Amino acid sequence: MSNASLLILPGDGIGPEVMTEVRKIIDWYGAKRDLQFDVSEDLVGGAAYDKHGTPLHDDTMAKAQEVDAVLLGAVGGPKYDNLDFSVKPERGLLRLRKEMDLFANLRPAQCFDALADFSSLKKDIVAGLDIMIVRELTSGIYFGEPRGIFEEGNERVGINTQRYTESEIDRVARSAFELARRRGNKVCSMEKANVMESGILWREVVQKVHDEDYPDVELSHMYADAGAMQLCRYPKQFDVIVTDNLFGDILSDAAAMLTGSLGMLPSASLGAPMANGRPKALYEPVHGSAPDIAGQGKANPIACILSFAMALRYSFDQGDEAARLEAAIETVLADGARTADLMGPEGGTPMSTTDMGDAIIAALDASL
Ligand code: NAD
Repeated sequence: MSNASLLILPGDGIGPEVMTEVRKIIDWYGAKRDLQFDVSEDLVGGAAYDKHGTPLHDDTMAKAQEVDAVLLGAVGGPKYDNLDFSVKPERGLLRLRKEMDLFANLRPAQCFDALADFSSLKKDIVAGLDIMIVRELTSGIYFGEPRGIFEEGNERVGINTQRYTESEIDRVARSAFELARRRGNKVCSMEKANVMESGILWREVVQKVHDEDYPDVELSHMYADAGAMQLCRYPKQFDVIVTDNLFGDILSDAAAMLTGSLGMLPSASLGAPMANGRPKALYEPVHGSAPDIAGQGKANPIACILSFAMALRYSFDQGDEAARLEAAIETVLADGARTADLMGPEGGTPMSTTDMGDAIIAALDASL
């Protein structure tokens, strides 16, 4: 693997705890699979504010623009709640996403068999589930103008505008088709072309990108409301779902919860390809800094470890090694390894963050 650079930003709360376990996995790949990463580490969020008075130093931002992938733990915490909005920890993360122009947000919903009982759906509907929602992240109704609350006659009106250009739809569609080729080779595009002009354009552009450059990928279209129903009825019919910012926000949260705990959910945000062909990329667990359990060794490191697995697959073209890591996690869960967040009503003694990391390393060793 040529020149694989990785910037690690552990952040706040449980961020550094879960990232310690990821560092062990990265070292394992260096020692046992000869996958060498050029790893640097820096501050983000409250930790950066404490040192520099800003949640993301310009030098860190510059580094993030240069590396092949950024891996972030979590930011925030009660200590920073009263800071001015402009220096709140979350601003560091938002700056990374904005300046790296990360327009495709990838949220997998993957259900490990051993945790299928955690889902609110029946076990046979979710066991083995592995879908990927690609949400457009930098445009659409959260950004469109005009927006605001205006006086109109003798009452107020709240306005937001759904706006998509062809190029914005084109690039996120390409991300989805590229991903599909590395997975099950199927994309379902979701919009509301029946009632929204932006949806009509969305459907046309996705179809055009498909027909011109990805005819080998199976493409279907679905109205987003019907898609929500299908996600609950029979989620395993999907491989990659591509959708806009608003629908993606809702559908990805719903799909993620099909699979159980927040401590298990990774994510990635991808931008345009760099000169070396790799996309700009930020990988992070979906969870926050969990101040209620920070510093107690209780955090589940799997969401962050799975985020690194996504980096292996989508930034470093190491799909087989990503699958090895996911299989190691499947094995330890099947063997009954559980951090506190994964304990069922039957109880038992939860394992620590470190013990979970060690168990995954042992399973990786056993995979050789
Ligand atoms: P949270 O995700 O931090 O925690 C929600 C609940 O889930 C808590 O009970 C927590 O203990 C539990 N949890 C989360 N991750 C876990 C893990 N890996 N293992 C075990 N349990 C886990 O959300 P919150 O409490 O709403 O927010 C706490 C702080 O995190 C806030 O400052 C918030 O702004 C910030 N936050 C940051 C991000 C991010 O960095 N991307 C995302 C969400 C929230």
